[in-house]
Amino acid sequence: MQKKIQIKVPVADASNEQIIRNLLAKEASQPAGNITGFQLIKKSLDARSKYPHILITATVFINEPFRKHDSDQQPLRDVKQSAKSVLIIGAGPAGLFAALSLIRSGIRPIIVERGKDVRARRRDLVILNKEGIIDPESNYCFGEGGAGTYNDGKLYTRSNKRGNIQRILDLFVRFGAEENILYEAHPHIGTNKLPAIISAIREYIIACGGEIHFNKKLIDWSEFRESITEIRIADGDRLRADAIILATGHSARDIFQLFHEKKKEIHAKPFALGLRVEHPQDLINSIQYRYIREEGPRVKGLPPAAYQLVHTEHNRSVFSFCMCPGGIIAPASTNHRELVVNGWSPSKRNNPFANSGIVVNIEEKDWQAFTKHGPLAAMYFQSAIEQKAFDQGGGLFKAPAQRLTDFCRGIISGSLPACSYVPGLQSANVPEVFPRDIARSLQKAFPAFGVKMNGYFTQEAIVVATESRTSSPVRIPRDDKSLAHPQIKNLFPCGEGAGYAGGIMSAAMDGERVAEKIAEIFSTKPMIHVNA
Ligand SMILES: Cc1cc2nc3c(=O)[nH]c(=O)nc-3n(C[C@H](O)[C@H](O)[C@H](O)COP(=O)(O)OP(=O)(O)OC[C@H]3O[C@@H](n4cnc5c(N)ncnc54)[C@H](O)[C@@H]3O)c2cc1C
Repeated sequence: MQKKIQIKVPVADASNEQIIRNLLAKEASQPAGNITGFQLIKKSLDARSKYPHILITATVFINEPFRKHDSDQQPLRDVKQSAKSVLIIGAGPAGLFAALSLIRSGIRPIIVERGKDVRARRRDLVILNKEGIIDPESNYCFGEGGAGTYNDGKLYTRSNKRGNIQRILDLFVRFGAEENILYEAHPHIGTNKLPAIISAIREYIIACGGEIHFNKKLIDWSEFRESITEIRIADGDRLRADAIILATGHSARDIFQLFHEKKKEIHAKPFALGLRVEHPQDLINSIQYRYIREEGPRVKGLPPAAYQLVHTEHNRSVFSFCMCPGGIIAPASTNHRELVVNGWSPSKRNNPFANSGIVVNIEEKDWQAFTKHGPLAAMYFQSAIEQKAFDQGGGLFKAPAQRLTDFCRGIISGSLPACSYVPGLQSANVPEVFPRDIARSLQKAFPAFGVKMNGYFTQEAIVVATESRTSSPVRIPRDDKSLAHPQIKNLFPCGEGAGYAGGIMSAAMDGERVAEKIAEIFSTKPMIHVNA
């Protein structure tokens, strides 16, 4: 017999298998000896009461052999001799998961990636952080794994396509992620673990007969009768395939430019803009956990606290974005003279700071001054803000920064608190980076956040500009049915860059969706039944 059971476990015991087994047996009214095994379905922290505890839901096997959930849904398949091949531009989550899906359908993927492999890329990140020198082809956004490699690795999505979510999580486990991502309410992989997972995906694709080529930047293509016949690579190479998946991410501005020059349909798209705020993690813990506030010591096993905030100011939504407990603020720029920040954390989330993007929704009225750029108006607006932030920082990717309370008053801070941002800080009047309306919305939102989280609005917190690559400022349209670009029959825009995803999970799911559509068009036979 199998039974779905929920139990409450003290935080300190939440990783103790024997205690969990005993509690499950008690809840199932069974002697512990009758429990042959259990499969965790969900694990979440409930910190509402004074003593936080963990809620666990599990399938319990009673007096029947235990069968563990099998995450290995992707055995090797030789696609080298496949009659069909697909070029994938970009090795981010969208491109890589599209490749895995194509292999399941018996189609050979050939990935071309402008950046370097994960290892070589790491060296460029060290140079960026320590010397303030950026490689425009190898940075936090470009290179193997895309923006999804040296990244926080939070795996939540607002999508409710449960079947696809489960498969993506299973695939992450298949390629080396820990099994807890399958049941944690807020799954998180961590920057230290992601590169090995990305490398394992690459090795699998190659072992199946697919290809991945680094330092290969798509710069142009040729067409005949509304189909691409050949793509051109910056090093002079020319490549052909039956279809092309374009998964170049939200920072490939040259790709948006190429579409515009070729008079292919693209549209300016709203995105969100703001800054990153950082507090001491202990302060956020004490705000979020009543136990710590009242009794001081940290409960063993209690994770560093997260938060989610939203405030509406003059019809503008101001909200927290990509909050990283125990994290680091990173320089996520892709160009010289443009400053972009984002956040990541290691799997243990054990850094002493809690950072979060705090961003405002940007709409058409905000990029009016850039309308001469047509569908690239929002992108030019985004770039102008990033240039202002770079100039305010004084160069070498030093970020303009201010104490949170000074930011809201518009006063330059005499001194800055400690901050995790490695390239360094420049004390500046950060509101000047933004159009006045946006600055004001941010300035009003922080005191309101302080009402919701007592202690949040403090001079111990610091703001760092600018958080501007929250999603793509351009949409590359695609036909609802074929998922191809309306003017190019064999080009499939995909992932975050084309405007169909926001985050690792949704980008990976969109990669699968496009690959499945191509397989349907090619009428190939799937290798396994996939629970879509
Ligand atoms: C520091 C940081 C932390 C983040 N944290 C999280 C998080 O915790 N959770 C989450 O869900 N999301 C997070 N994100 C966002 C997430 O990484 C992206 O949403 C996701 O990677 C988008 O996937 P994608 O495949 O669509 O595009 P990308 O990951 O951007 O990949 C696009 C790829 O295309 C390549 N490319 C671009 N142009 C060309 C060209 N012309 N020729 C060849 N190749 C090209 C790029 O080099 C890149 O590798 C974070 C991002 C950053 C930067």
